[in-house]
Amino acid sequence: MEKNKTAILVVDMLNDFVTGALKCDRGLAIVPKTAELLRGARKAGIPVIFCNDAHIKGVDHELKLWGDHAIAGTKGAEVIPELELCEQDYVVPKRRYSGFFHTDLDLLLRELGIDTVIMTGLHAHMCVRHTSADAYCLGYRVVVATDATDSFTEEDYVSGIQYLKNVYGAELYTVDELLREFGV
Ligand code: ZN
Repeated sequence: MEKNKTAILVVDMLNDFVTGALKCDRGLAIVPKTAELLRGARKAGIPVIFCNDAHIKGVDHELKLWGDHAIAGTKGAEVIPELELCEQDYVVPKRRYSGFFHTDLDLLLRELGIDTVIMTGLHAHMCVRHTSADAYCLGYRVVVATDATDSFTEEDYVSGIQYLKNVYGAELYTVDELLREFGV
């Protein structure tokens, strides 16, 4: 893994997904490892990019399926405090599952010279999967931090990870292994 060509994508680690409207215990459980990974990445100079749901109430059709969550401008749409969003990080708002869909994520990654994305966040079988799909189709190498992503259930998590591996050739690493790769 070349450090200067790698970025971390943090998908939907927002108040509403962890402790709010769509809260889940498994999401809460990955917070310490995710925070550890982000601290290590920042120390190693690896960009941390938050791909954040920022929905428009009454407009985004996904809200009909899931109910109101992560409405732009609300507390629920903010990154959870434990992940210590800071000035050197990047934030890309999104209105669909994928962090690439009608956003400038691809432009940002290209400008940063990135060819490898490390996937983290929620949910492994939904927004992480859709973001990985677009990353793969756009030609990025996809790595998954297996203990910094999860789903509502063990079954969704296992099948989600397996899908990423089988269909996008995702390489699976634990946070500890990634930190060793970063040399921090
Ligand atoms: Zn959403």
